Amino acid sequence: MAGKPRSLREHVERVITDTLDRCTACGRCYQVCPMPRYSALLQDAPGERVVGEVLQLLRREPGRALGLEFVKICTQSASCIPACPEGIDPMLMLRVARMVALGALGEAPQMEGREEPQFFQKIDTYAALQLDERELLDWHDRRLP
Ligand code: SF4
Repeated sequence: MAGKPRSLREHVERVITDTLDRCTACGRCYQVCPMPRYSALLQDAPGERVVGEVLQLLRREPGRALGLEFVKICTQSASCIPACPEGIDPMLMLRVARMVALGALGEAPQMEGREEPQFFQKIDTYAALQLDERELLDWHDRRLP
C-alpha cells in the first residue's frame, strides 16, 4: 500500500482491498474462534463457507446468513490473529465487515446493531480539533458519571 491514508475512510477501504486480495478463505480464523460453538447457525458450518460469506460483505454483495452471523458473534477474542497464514488481521476483517453490514460505509444496512451513522464525520471532526493529551483527559473526565 503506497503512502499513508488521508482519512479513516481511506484506511478502511484499504483494509477491505488488502483483505480481498490476500484472504484465501481457508477458514482457519473461524476454526480457532471460540464463539461459533455458541451459535446454533454456525456450529456445523464449514469455515471456508463462513469466511467466504464475510468476504461477500466486503465486496459489497448482499450478506448471507453464515457470514452475517460470524460478524455478529465476534467478541474480539483475537484468537484468530495468530492463526491466519496470510498475515491478515481477521478480527479487523470482521470489524470492517460489521461496518459494511450495519450500513456505516454507505450501503443499505443488512443487520441490526448499534453503529454511529456519522462515525467518519465525527472522527474527522475530533482529528481537526487537535486536542492535546490534557484536553482529551479533561474532556473524558467531564463525561464520567
Ligand atoms: S483471514 Fe486468514 S485465516 Fe481467515 S480465511 Fe482469510 S486467509 Fe484464512
